[in-house]
This record gives sequence, structure tokens and C-alpha cells, in this order.
Amino acid sequence: MLKKIRIMTPGPTPVPVDVLLEGAKETLYHRNPEFEKMLANASEGLKKVFRTEGYVFILASSGTGAMEAAVANTVSPGDKVITVVGGKFGERWADLCKSYGANTYEIDMEWGDYLRVEQVEKALKENPDTKVVFTTLSETSTGVVNDIKAVAEVVKNTDAILVVDAVSGLIAEPLEMDKWGVDIAVAGSQKAFMMPPGLAFVAVRGEKAWKRIEASKSPRYYFDLRAYKKKYTDTPYTGAVNLVYQLNKSLTMIESETIEKVWKRHAIFAKAMRNGIQALGLELFAKKPGNVLTAVKIPTEIDGLEFLKVCREKYGMVFSGGQSQLKGKIFRISNLGYVDKLDMLSALATVEMVMNEMGKHVPIGAGLKAMEESFLEDDKNENLG
Ligand SMILES: *Cc1c(COP(=O)(O)O)cnc(C)c1O
Repeated sequence: MLKKIRIMTPGPTPVPVDVLLEGAKETLYHRNPEFEKMLANASEGLKKVFRTEGYVFILASSGTGAMEAAVANTVSPGDKVITVVGGKFGERWADLCKSYGANTYEIDMEWGDYLRVEQVEKALKENPDTKVVFTTLSETSTGVVNDIKAVAEVVKNTDAILVVDAVSGLIAEPLEMDKWGVDIAVAGSQKAFMMPPGLAFVAVRGEKAWKRIEASKSPRYYFDLRAYKKKYTDTPYTGAVNLVYQLNKSLTMIESETIEKVWKRHAIFAKAMRNGIQALGLELFAKKPGNVLTAVKIPTEIDGLEFLKVCREKYGMVFSGGQSQLKGKIFRISNLGYVDKLDMLSALATVEMVMNEMGKHVPIGAGLKAMEESFLEDDKNENLG
């Protein structure tokens, strides 16, 4: 049977045709002034989505490369750092810090739980020599979004800097680097940017961050942010030329919708999915779900891995499963980036059909009804169109 693939995963996310076509344009020499203009334009556009007057560097890597850059540039061997671990990506900060020889203090949470600001206060009080606090805006493995504004408020008054993994959160959830006082934030192209994988971004603002970067004794070369700062208006190494074309297109699209409306769209979509899922009698996994994705507990009646397989193979609907200890226990439906209301409805329709096919009898149409009502209600209030 004809099969149309729909990726409802939190990275890579669907890419609009206009962005895809940019990638098909002739590849320019990366020292061509025309390309350098595009790079400068992209950097300016990135500052607007990170909400900073600082620097935003463009790296040719996936999001983890930007995370490694943040660690290598701020952590020296033996430095005390605090990491927040409530899922796979918080764990990645801890693993990276250990790889760079940091003295790592972990704030450990049950996966699916969210960070309380008091936990950061306590950790900082117990570890006054802390150099860096590593946190996650949207913990993609569990669907939780953390209150970074409150954390920044606390870290601001210490000698430590705050580094935020905003790889899946940026553009989908509010993040105000300058207003809140976030020192460094990282992101990746294959999430809310609606781009293919391949670019990562590191935003750095303020004296406090640059002092740490200057002081780092860790080995760094390709990801040495001082080199990127020196060559800010061009690029120290070969730029990922066609991806930069695509980045400019994506930033233009976001700017014309306005970032505030993009945030709101993600909130409306995620709420509609939560309403739909709960109307089916299914349970949400996250204790405080964010607006990036919806993590759903797999009912005991069905095999979680088989469920994903049937959705993918029979309907072309690609959801993400659980990672590490959550494998087979949850599935995740993303509403990140280039996703519209009908994508959301078809994702939920797939859940209703496949669950019933596999013997979990959720009420057919009940989720869709709740989702449509949620959309109509928000439409009346927001007039988003
Ligand atoms: C996707 C993601 C990353 C980066 O993963 P890559 O596969 O290296 O792009 C990091 N943190 C979070 C929260 C993510 O969602």
C-alpha cells in the first residue's frame, strides 16, 4: 500500500519544502563575500531567537557537539561543576563533564520529574566553589521543561556560570538569555529550526562567561570558541555552506511568524495533544510536561516496541520510543517545528487505531474530539489562524 512518511519525532523534525530547496542551491566558496554576508545575516538572526546581544557561534556538528564545546570551553580538569540529571540529556552533561575531568556534583531526579529551584540553591550552598551549573531547558527524553528563569535568578548571584541545553527547547519554549541572565546556551538545527541535522549553535553572553572560557585548561581545537569569536563575521573553518542557506530561510520564516507566536503555537499544540491523550484514558509520563513533545506511558496490555513498529510500518507514522531505562515503557509524540494541526490529528488518529488493533481498547474518536475542541477553543482566544 502507498505509504507517506510523517516524522513526529523530537529531532529530526519535518523540513518545509522552501527550506529543503535552499539546500539544493549552488554551493559557494566559503570565503566568497556573498556567503560571508549570509553567515553574518544568520548570526544576527540567531541572536534574535536566543534573545541575546551576545555572540552566537555556528558549528558544523549535531547538538552534542555544541554541548561538548560548552564543556571544553568552560571546565578545567578538577573544576567543581553541578549537573542536573532527570533524563538522557541531563545525563549527557554529566558524562561530558566527567570526560573532561570535572569534579561533578549531580542533582539526581527521577526521570520524568522536574527541577526545583531549591535543589539548585542547596547544591550551590553545599558547593560554593562551583564553576559551572549545567541544566536542560527541555529534557527531550521525558518531555519535561524546567524553569530556567528561576534557576538563572539563583546562579546569577554566585561565581558560577549557567549553561543551558536548549537543543529541543529553543524556539519552542521561551528562553530569554539576556533578560534572565543565562550565560551560555546551546541548540541544534534539526529541532524547532525546521532544518535537516548538521548545524549546532553556541550562544555566549557577558564578561562572566568569557572569563571562564579564557580560563579553561581543557584541550580544545576545532571547538575552541575563541577561534570562532576572532572570526565572527566569517568562519575559522569551512562553513556548512548549504546548511547556512537553509538556516537563513528558517530564521526568516520564524521571524515572519514572530517568535512569540511560534512559542504560543507550540503551547497550543502540546496542550491539544495532552488533552487528546488523556481523553483516551492514556497517561502522560512527565510530571510537568512542556510544549515540545508529549511523552505517553505505554499501557500494560501492549508491547511498546511493537506499537512503534506498527505505527511506522503500517501507517508511516514515526514516533520516538523511550531511551535507556524508558525503552518500551513510553512513546513520544513531538510537535516541534514544522508541524500543523492536521499533523497533530493524524498522529493522534494513528494512536487510536494502532492501540485498538493491538488489543488496547481506547475509545475511537475520543482523542480526536478532545484535540479538535482544544484547537477550536484556543483559536477563539488566540486568533492564531
Ligand atoms: C536532540 C538533543 C540533543 C542533541 O542531540 P544530537 O543528536 O547530538 O543532535 C541534546 N539535548 C537535547 C535536549 C536534545 O533534545
